[in-house]
Amino acid sequence: MAVKSNGEDTRFAKPKPLSSHGPARIIAMCNQKGGVGKTTTAINMSAALVEYGRKVLLVDYDPQGALSAGLGIIAHDDITIYELMLDSNLDPRKAIKKTAIEGLDVIPANIELSAAEMKLVNEFSREKILSRILKKVAPDYDLIVIDCQPSLGLLTVNALTAAHGVIIPLACEYFALRGVAILEDIIKKVQETTNDTLVLDGVLATMYDPRTLHAREVMDRLHDHFGDKVFRSVIHRTVKFPDATVAAEPITSFASSSDGAEAYRTVARELVARGYAP
Ligand code: ADP
Ligand code: MG
Repeated sequence: MAVKSNGEDTRFAKPKPLSSHGPARIIAMCNQKGGVGKTTTAINMSAALVEYGRKVLLVDYDPQGALSAGLGIIAHDDITIYELMLDSNLDPRKAIKKTAIEGLDVIPANIELSAAEMKLVNEFSREKILSRILKKVAPDYDLIVIDCQPSLGLLTVNALTAAHGVIIPLACEYFALRGVAILEDIIKKVQETTNDTLVLDGVLATMYDPRTLHAREVMDRLHDHFGDKVFRSVIHRTVKFPDATVAAEPITSFASSSDGAEAYRTVARELVARGYAP
């Protein structure tokens, strides 16, 4: 690994400044397992891309609202992604919240979103609702990142239908790959039905602990299974991430020079280098 004395990982070039913004590429952060780093990756990869001059919209698509909370946004009476899904006449711009980081915006969610799947059962082409919403705001951003809930129901199908690419964060633990075949199956079904241009952008290994042998074994299994789809960037396990969550800030601002912040900058650069972000 090429790491400079200031901690900067130089394997991937610094993204070039953009002369104009949009239309956004859309990425779904997806894994039906909870606690694998979806929300952490959505927030911090996006915050790193904002440091590189990109305009990013985060969509909280989990009724737990962890992404909103992780950026200091609690949606009580505000318009959330749920209202946008129920009312197609509502302008999605009305739901967008600015964060403390200039260039990083959020469409929040709260527990009401858990009713969406039931409310929308009889809706016409109900797996395309999110796609229609995001098309309206895509011109204003370079990237839109959807933070999915840990399930493979209608909301996740909406996210995969709206997305150009999907990133699967996987925690380096025993059984990391358990259930992944089901997720790959859903991705394939979406490609065959509602979104034939969806691509797997990559698999991101998270919570890597170099002191354990099994973390190394999990990495080997990821490479066996996904080949070069595995990001070369790896996120190590560090308490700085939960600390940043409590502080309701991305790690890139909470602990700007930490290894964790640098790791997500590397992910951001790798994403651009692979052509999956502008
Ligand atoms: P998910 O969205 O997949 O459920 P989260 O991103 O919310 O997962 O992460 C679950 C918990 O683990 C959070 O408390 C988060 O702060 C913590 N966490 C995330 N990534 C790391 C990491 N690399 N090292 C240590 N803790 C982490
Ligand atoms: Mg989450």
